Amino acid sequence: MKYLSYWHDTAPGFTGAVEGPIEGHYDVAVIGGGFTGLGAARQLAKAGTKVIVLEAETVGYGASGRNGGHLNNGLAHSYLAAKAEIGKERAIALYQALDASIDTLEAIIAEEGIDCNFRRAGKLKLASKPQHFDSLAKNFEAVHAEVDPDTALLSPADLEREVGSPFHGAMLSKKSAMMHMGRYVAGLAGAASRSGAVIAEKATVKEHGQTDGRHVLKTARGVVTADQVLVATGAYTTSNFGYFRRRIIPVGSFIIATRPLTEAG
Ligand SMILES: Cc1cc2nc3c(=O)[nH]c(=O)nc-3n(C[C@H](O)[C@H](O)[C@H](O)COP(=O)(O)OP(=O)(O)OC[C@H]3O[C@@H](n4cnc5c(N)ncnc54)[C@H](O)[C@@H]3O)c2cc1C
Repeated sequence: MKYLSYWHDTAPGFTGAVEGPIEGHYDVAVIGGGFTGLGAARQLAKAGTKVIVLEAETVGYGASGRNGGHLNNGLAHSYLAAKAEIGKERAIALYQALDASIDTLEAIIAEEGIDCNFRRAGKLKLASKPQHFDSLAKNFEAVHAEVDPDTALLSPADLEREVGSPFHGAMLSKKSAMMHMGRYVAGLAGAASRSGAVIAEKATVKEHGQTDGRHVLKTARGVVTADQVLVATGAYTTSNFGYFRRRIIPVGSFIIATRPLTEAG
C-alpha cells in the first residue's frame, strides 16, 4: 500500500527550487529540507550567509510533511515528575522553552505571511480512566500556579460540553496550537529562498569528504563545497550517513481524516 501525505495532497507545493546542475562554494551547506534544514537556512540567509539546502526528494518529504500538525506546549509527561527529577527551576525553563517554540513559529508565520491555518486550538491531556483524574488534577494545580496560568481543569461534564467525548476529565493547555504542516513547510521554503538561500531538490548527498579544510558534497546533481555543513536529515537519513541513521529511528503513527460525516455515514 502507498501512503499519501494529507498535508502534501492539500497544499500548494514549493516552486522556488533551483533547476539544472548544482555546483559552487557555500558558507554553509544544509543537508535535508525539512523544518530543521529550512528553518536554519532561512535564519542563516537572513544573516547574510551564503547557504544551499540539498534535499534528496522535495521539501517537506520527510517527517515535516507527515506529522500530526500539533504545536504542543506543556510537558508530554507530568510537570510534577519533571520537578522531582530535575528541580523546579529547570522544569520551569523546559516548560517555557516549549511555550517559546510556539511563539517563535507564530512570529515566523506572521513575518513571512505564511498561509498555514495557524490557530491556538488548545491541547487536552485526557484522563482515559476515572483513576487518572486525581493525578491529572494535582499536576494541573502545580502547572497553573507555578508556570502556566493559561490552563484549565475540565471535569468529565465540562469535557462532554467541550468535545462531546466520553473521557473522565482533562487538563486544557490553551497556548497549544495547530497548523497545516504542508502549507507551513512550503511557506518556510519560500521564505528561505526569498532571503537568499538556494534550495535544490532531488539532490541526495551521496558522499561527504573533506579537502583543504573544505567539505566536499557529492550529490545526485553535482558537487558543491562548503565551509560548514549542517546535517538535518532526521529519521529519513540515507544509509551513507550511518552515524545518524543508527541513532534516529522512524516511528509511524496515523490519523484518519474524513469529509464531515452525516448520520448516513
Ligand atoms: C508520524 C509523525 C507525527 C508527528 N507529529 C508531530 C506533531 O504533531 N507535532 C510536532 O511538533 N512534531 C511531530 N512530529 C515530529 C516532527 O514532524 C519532526 O520532529 C520534524 O518534522 C523533523 O524535521 P526535520 O527537518 O528534522 O526532519 P525531516 O522533516 O524528516 O527532514 C529530513 C529531510 O532530509 C532529507 N534527507 C535525508 N537524507 C538525505 C541526503 N543524504 N541528502 C539530502 N537529503 C536527505 C529527507 O528526504 C528529508 O526530507 C511527528 C513525526 C512523525 C513521524
